[in-house]
This record gives sequence, C-alpha cells and structure tokens, in this order.
Amino acid sequence: MFNRKIYLKKYREQHKNKAHDYGNEYRKQHPRDLGKQRIYNRKYYQEHREHLVEIATRNLKRRRCQQKLKAVALFGGKCQKCGYNKCVDALDFHHEVPSIKEYGMGVIFGMSWKKILIELEKCELLCSNCHRETHAALRLDGNN
Ligand SMILES: [Zn+2]
Repeated sequence: MFNRKIYLKKYREQHKNKAHDYGNEYRKQHPRDLGKQRIYNRKYYQEHREHLVEIATRNLKRRRCQQKLKAVALFGGKCQKCGYNKCVDALDFHHEVPSIKEYGMGVIFGMSWKKILIELEKCELLCSNCHRETHAALRLDGNN
C-alpha cells in the first residue's frame, strides 16, 4: 500500500543534503545586500503597515490571553478566597502588598514570562468580587 507520509519522509531524507547544497550555492552566488534589504523591508512595512500592525496586535492579544490562562492555572484556576472558577475574565491578580508592586497586572501580560513570574509571586488570585471586597476593606483600614 502506498503510504504518503512514509514516502515523503523518505524523499526528504534522500534530498535533504541536495536542498542544503543548493541553498549554500545560491547564497554564494547571490550574497545578501543588507542595505538593499533594509530599503525593501522599510518599503514593505510602509506599504503593508495596517496589515502588519493588525497581525502584531492580534499576536499580542493572543499572547496576553495565553499568558493569563497559564498564570491562572498556576494558582489552581480559582479564587483563593471563595473558590470561584467559572470565568477567567472575572479572575484578577491582587497585589497583597501594593508597595512592592513593580508593574500593574494590566501591563504585565505581554511581557516575558520571567517578569510575569516575578510579579505573580507578589500576588494572589481573586475573583472580581473578592478583589473589590479586599480593596474596600483596605480602604476602610486607611491603607489604600
Ligand atoms: Zn472570590
């Protein structure tokens, strides 16, 4: 029986070096002109600006969303006060000690995971309700 996957794998293995050699040979004959490339890149960016910005925004949104999901999972996926776990959007990261906060959670997602982890260590995961109650209590104490 003809198996496409196995055939392709074999084909790739047989032609791997050939493709590689061809690429090297081509590069030798056509060295990159970085100045030219930069001009081209700039032109390409100007002509496709809207589209490129749209892609970048979409990627950032996706990244932020994935990072929040990952962070929420680290805390067990639920409010640490009442156990609420229905909707991720209704879960906030609360800074237990506001004075040691370096970044607000609004800007932290989208940064490197390493930075996020440092900030998360100062936080607890609360649902919006508990978060507001906590802040109200802090306000009454005169701390906030
Ligand atoms: Zn809660």
